[in-house]
Amino acid sequence: MPQLNSVLLVGGSGFLGLHLIQQFHVHSPHTKITVFDIRPLPSKLSKFFTFDPREIAFFQGDLTLAQDVSKAIRQSQCDAIVHSASPMHGMAQAIYEKVNVEGTFNLLKVAKEEGIGAFVYTSSAGVIFNGQDVVNADESWPYPEVHMDGYNETKATAETAVMKANDPAGSGFRTVCLRPAGIFGPGDRQLVPGLKASAELGQSKYQLGDNKNLFDWTYVGNVADAHVLAAQKLLDEEARDEVCGETFFITNDAPTYFW
Ligand code: NAD
Repeated sequence: MPQLNSVLLVGGSGFLGLHLIQQFHVHSPHTKITVFDIRPLPSKLSKFFTFDPREIAFFQGDLTLAQDVSKAIRQSQCDAIVHSASPMHGMAQAIYEKVNVEGTFNLLKVAKEEGIGAFVYTSSAGVIFNGQDVVNADESWPYPEVHMDGYNETKATAETAVMKANDPAGSGFRTVCLRPAGIFGPGDRQLVPGLKASAELGQSKYQLGDNKNLFDWTYVGNVADAHVLAAQKLLDEEARDEVCGETFFITNDAPTYFW
């Protein structure tokens, strides 16, 4: 197993971010974990988490500011960066452009300058979605000419930049993009709260399509576990070529794996 001494989790205070901490804590116990986020880590966690948030190094900062990112990368002395920061669904296009595009470009630039070896980006399965059915797609499925919305468009732009930045033979900067679809599990701030809000407003009597639509939902612990494996693989001299410069859809295998 390759040695991952220190990982920087950008967006680590979020729903997926807390599960990233948990999965690194459990599966890579010797790795120092540092979180970089615009909002603080919660001081109290639910029973699903076994780490103590007071023992996690934390930098509060904005991904779009080079000096904030640079300070966190230098002080954490990280070997790998996992970038899972993004605005939530339903925001204005300008916010997605600012954080997903400018922020990711900024993070890539600083990470390269600081000589980081491994960069894992949390993309989204939505990068290939334009509202039409997607059946039996694999990672060769092209981006649509017109994206579903600003969120997915900017995730695709960021993903493209992350893949282009992959440069194993030159600077040694290795990148991979992971594409979950819907994520569910403890701490979710969008799916269940959104359904609950709709139900409370009585918005339960509409139907999309023929009511046989399928959608892919993945347990958050599995999505986080995939990130740990991706970071480890990027640092593994023998296995890194299998993943670097690639995108991967992330979904559940049956049965769902709960840590
Ligand atoms: P979340 O909102 O809970 O977490 C995102 C985190 O990013 C937050 O803690 C937020 O404070 C941080 N952040 C936002 N802007 C920032 C900035 N400028 N600087 C620093 N930090 C900033 O969202 P999540 O559901 O945990 O999503 C995590 C990642 O997974 C995102 O990249 C999202 O696009 C992707 N994703 C989520 C889902 C889903 O169903 N939740 C599905 C597919 C992909």
